[in-house]
Amino acid sequence: MNLRKSAAVAATVAALALTATACGGESGNAGDKPAGGSGGKNQPKLPTYTVAKDVKVDSPTLKKAQKAGKIVFGAKDDQPFLGFQDTDGKRSGFDIEIAKMVAADLGFKPDQIEFKTVDSNVRETTISKGEVDLYVGTYTINDERKKQVGFAGPYFMAGADLLVRADEKGVTGPDSLKGKTVCSIKGSTPLQEIKKPKYGAKTVELSKYSECVQQLLNNEVDAVTTDDAILKGYAAQRPTKLKVVGKPFTKEPYGIGMNKDDKALRDAVNNAIEAHEKNGDYKKAYDATLGLSKSAYTEPPALERY
Ligand code: GLU
Repeated sequence: MNLRKSAAVAATVAALALTATACGGESGNAGDKPAGGSGGKNQPKLPTYTVAKDVKVDSPTLKKAQKAGKIVFGAKDDQPFLGFQDTDGKRSGFDIEIAKMVAADLGFKPDQIEFKTVDSNVRETTISKGEVDLYVGTYTINDERKKQVGFAGPYFMAGADLLVRADEKGVTGPDSLKGKTVCSIKGSTPLQEIKKPKYGAKTVELSKYSECVQQLLNNEVDAVTTDDAILKGYAAQRPTKLKVVGKPFTKEPYGIGMNKDDKALRDAVNNAIEAHEKNGDYKKAYDATLGLSKSAYTEPPALERY
């Protein structure tokens, strides 16, 4: 990336961080209203999770984490309402809450969780090398990836959609992309999909979604494609400039990634997801994060357990 572009990307990330802070109830960002309404008093509250004691699971990954006194989660840092890191280093979003729920059931307090930013194109290698214990970051479960990593879940069902400028008339769905330039990120399933000849689209392939959003705002591309849940977060941050087309064209079941062979951990994480779906934490966490970006709540999908 050249200097001008990296400066522009930094500016977008900073602007997103500002509006994300606004969502937490502080001052707004000029031009666009903060997503999630007035903030403050009326804002839905995040749940707190009871930390389990004396957890015993026959999992090499968990035993290593228990010995270290901390558990390491891979996550995204530029997806508002899902996996976001503000300028103070604070992480927020639905995926971050899912990580905290799971960590609590595995016996780790919030201050024993270490988050590492891991983007889509390096997820499988980072997990296989053991550089993170678990990964929660809009990670679609599929057979190709299952050859390299294990998945608990799914805990959420998304679908690939298109983000366009608010005044866009020509891009109305995946069938309208002939000759258009679409940005997505390396190692993501929506990029793989949009490269199929039937769409006739040209692609720009970057490392971070926030870079694609900046290119869209700069008129350098016609659309950004990835999961609707991610795109709605960007649109909510920039309601006067961006909109989501609203015609999802794939199914993206989100899983929690981990070592491929650690079945005991996979089972324990599935149990944790199930428990928090049942006790209402899941819905509460959703309302206080993704729910603020106009993603309508739907019941979580059935766990796969394999
Ligand atoms: N869920 C899709 C995937 O796992 C797109 C979002 C992402 O890149 O994380 O590839």
